[in-house]
Amino acid sequence: MDFQIAGKTALVLGASRGLGAAIAQGLRDEGVRVFAAARNIDGIEPAADMIPISVDLSDRTSVSTLIQHMQLQGGTDILINNTGGPKAGPALGQSTENWAAAFDMMAASIFSITDAMLEGMIARKWGRIITIGSSGVLQPIPNLALSNGVRAAITAWSKTLASEVGKHGVTVNMLLPGRIDTDRVRELDGIKAKNTGASIETVQASSRNDIPVGRYGRPEEFAAAAVFLASAQASYVTGSSIRVDGGMIKAI
Ligand code: NAD
Repeated sequence: MDFQIAGKTALVLGASRGLGAAIAQGLRDEGVRVFAAARNIDGIEPAADMIPISVDLSDRTSVSTLIQHMQLQGGTDILINNTGGPKAGPALGQSTENWAAAFDMMAASIFSITDAMLEGMIARKWGRIITIGSSGVLQPIPNLALSNGVRAAITAWSKTLASEVGKHGVTVNMLLPGRIDTDRVRELDGIKAKNTGASIETVQASSRNDIPVGRYGRPEEFAAAAVFLASAQASYVTGSSIRVDGGMIKAI
């Protein structure tokens, strides 16, 4: 299928590894010119269709610099809002500083980048805003209170925005990963192993048991859903949260 996005521009946040890197590659494979933004861009090979940009999403000045840079480029047609995940930990006893830091890095950063990129999308009457959430939005994950809480706010923001910009040809959707095999998921499995005294293999086997397809997802399987949402064919999908979780989320 021709997704009809060749020649479009995408800004992919958190593009140096994991889900962001896979989405950047998936869009590039469709002929999209990708601006790949991350804190550490050393591993992103620059090319005419893969332009690394350094940004620290936890730093407002750095976020403003990224916005100015993208505005000078004429904005973007496709925006992939993907950030690092916050620290693991329980809801009980979380400090105000931790909540504020998680909100700044994961939510305030993408709200302001999206706002700035919407101007051009609305003028061109075409845009795709895709925000990476988590299964924790629908089924909160134990010991990930900051992620569960801040992502709930992001999900409500995304849905609100979808209703505001739909008439301008801009779709706004969320993708909810279950357990996709990335460095972060390996790190979280390691933390769980340490906290429970179990081996990492035992932790991973128990996670796989909870997933109907019986395995973790591959980043490219996740990226395929993002590429579809970015496509011309997805023009009537907006305000949605789509799970890519191998059936893991228990709720209907
Ligand atoms: P990851 O940690 O492997 O990759 C995160 C990316 O964000 C990297 O490119 C990193 O450089 C970048 N990043 C981190 N902090 C940044 C900052 N301050 N400024 C700029 N860039 C920064 O994570 P992942 O597994 O690819 O997941 C991506 C997002 O999806 C995370 O928020 C994660 O919590 C969430 N998520 C992932 C899964 C999964 O199965 N992988 C499940 C649920 C939620």
